[in-house]
Amino acid sequence: MTQTLTRPLPLPTAETTHYWQAALDGRLKIQYCPACARHQFYPRRFCTQCLSQDIQWIQASGKGRVYTYTVCHVAAHPAFESRVPYVIGMIELEEGVRMLAGIVGPDVDRVAVGSPVEVCFERISDETALPMFRLVAADAPAA
Ligand SMILES: [Zn+2]
Repeated sequence: MTQTLTRPLPLPTAETTHYWQAALDGRLKIQYCPACARHQFYPRRFCTQCLSQDIQWIQASGKGRVYTYTVCHVAAHPAFESRVPYVIGMIELEEGVRMLAGIVGPDVDRVAVGSPVEVCFERISDETALPMFRLVAADAPAA
């Protein structure tokens, strides 16, 4: 008997629905607080620095660097067993926030702390796309 394993899916909340909808549209959105001029991630109802509730959504550049990473040789969930080894990284975006995401691509074995990356999206269901990151050349000209 063959068992089809489904991966765990994000469950959007009132705070994260905008983020997930943007990801489905191929855009990486983070929050910005005009009161203290800071970005924040993950999404919350208020600014964690100044407690302002006047928080805005902005489109992030999608560019950043690998702050740290790990190579997973043991799947964290049975649905990921076909992917091992896979790379999970803490990405520091140009906007200064850090986010946990998968790092993918044919050259992912060259990942290192400080590697420049850019966002890409993996559609995992009709309703969900996951922001992921791929390596970009350090000397790549600006698009
Ligand atoms: Zn603030």
